[in-house]
Amino acid sequence: MKMFAAGQWLDRDQVIEVRNPFDQTVIDTVPKASPSDVDRALAGAVAGAAIMRDMPGFERFQILRKAAALMRERAEELARTISLEEGKILAEGRLEVERATETIELSAEEAKRLGGEVLPLDGAPGGAGKLGFTLRVPCGVVAAITPFNFPLNLVAHKVGPALAAGNAVVIKPASDTPLSALALVEILLEAGLPPLAIACLTGSGKELGDALCSDPRVRKISFTGSQEIGEHITRIAGVKRVTLELGSNSPLVVLEDADLDKVARATVATGFANAGQVCISTQRVIAIGGAYAPLLQRLETDVGALRTGNQLDAATQVGPMIRAGDAERVEDWIGEAVRGGARLVVGGERRGALVSPAVVADVAPAMKISCEELFGPAVAVTAAKSIDEAIHLANSTRYGLSAAVFTESLDAAIRFARRVESGNIHINWGPQWRADLMPYGGLKQSGLGKEGPKYAVQEMTELKTVVIHGV
Ligand code: NAP
Repeated sequence: MKMFAAGQWLDRDQVIEVRNPFDQTVIDTVPKASPSDVDRALAGAVAGAAIMRDMPGFERFQILRKAAALMRERAEELARTISLEEGKILAEGRLEVERATETIELSAEEAKRLGGEVLPLDGAPGGAGKLGFTLRVPCGVVAAITPFNFPLNLVAHKVGPALAAGNAVVIKPASDTPLSALALVEILLEAGLPPLAIACLTGSGKELGDALCSDPRVRKISFTGSQEIGEHITRIAGVKRVTLELGSNSPLVVLEDADLDKVARATVATGFANAGQVCISTQRVIAIGGAYAPLLQRLETDVGALRTGNQLDAATQVGPMIRAGDAERVEDWIGEAVRGGARLVVGGERRGALVSPAVVADVAPAMKISCEELFGPAVAVTAAKSIDEAIHLANSTRYGLSAAVFTESLDAAIRFARRVESGNIHINWGPQWRADLMPYGGLKQSGLGKEGPKYAVQEMTELKTVVIHGV
């Protein structure tokens, strides 16, 4: 495929091969953009931002609504592209298309709701006879940098709100998974988006990132990816707005009164979806007292029953990881934990990029598999004596994206919600759950700001204050 910048589909001599993570076959190639392409894309986007700023909200709504309709028509093709380039099973690819369509539809609605407020200036000394109000205006050019693990929906979460708010947007998708983002660009253009309002540069983040993020023509950066790169972006961004959606090692705390069958079901669903490569995957299971041993028994059976294999095979429940190198990291971290005294209950065998879903018990909080972001198909189980100790362990991390508790006690659940330092809290399900309309974002090193179209639109717009004197 070609990339899109300054209103044109572009080829380059150097290309990046996009491979199926299961068998490494080349699915397609994309151009390898250079920093001069960033300059070209931004020059186009500045002109695109002026067009979008003047476009009525109703027209932006119509374009996004039409794009959502086209996504629905092409759902199966999009789902296959996602599964092929990312490695998630086809059922998960289909779900991602449904969610991305919903994200674009929610964004369309927001295009109609960009309001300000009337200011009670007569309440201020010297304010009598003046009329004040705020105008919500677009930021201008938005840079949207996205990770590999949801190559369509996480692009939609940036592009939808950016366009709804009247901005132009330059996307830099993950190099492993650029095809879904390019398919979305095609759809938006077909839906009537002015070509200068969007660009999608394929190429190495390391080579393009600084040029894109430090350029003063960009007023807003919306980044989803690893904590390290997010932090680097904050250092080089200069005076601009930055939203960061970063990593996590999400805890799931299990109290003794919990329904352990449900906990096991939730752990399987929220720890191993997309081969554990979800920013809010259950990574640390912290079980209190008598819940520990019976939960491990259930996890051994339920996790052991998951079938790993080719993501396009309907019988597969867990597909490959994005790269063999990441699978090796998961294998290493499990090995390190076992050498340190933890117990491998089930799984953990690696073949290429495939890792069989693993449960590791007796994990000490300082082991990498617990304290760093694993981003793979394994959960680390740790015992705690009380809810206070479990909350302390849950909080003993630099991350704070999502956390969950299983209990029948309302008091315990509310205590958990109040005291655990996390942007999302789930009661009686795992940490990996998201409705695309809700405010979503992390505390601590998990990020800054919120996504969810309504909230992202706030972050991709600015307020002007207008005062009419002598009214
Ligand atoms: P990553 O390595 O941080 O890459 C993310 C994006 O940043 C890619 O497009 C990458 O391009 C680009 N990039 C690389 N170096 C850059 C630089 N110096 N400046 C600017 N951009 C640069 O993350 P990933 O491996 O794709 O995704 C996994 C991470 O994303 C995990 O930490 C996960 O928790 C996080 N995540 C968070 C959320 C959330 O909502 N909080 C959601 C999903 C994922 P290249 O691909 O070309 O290197």
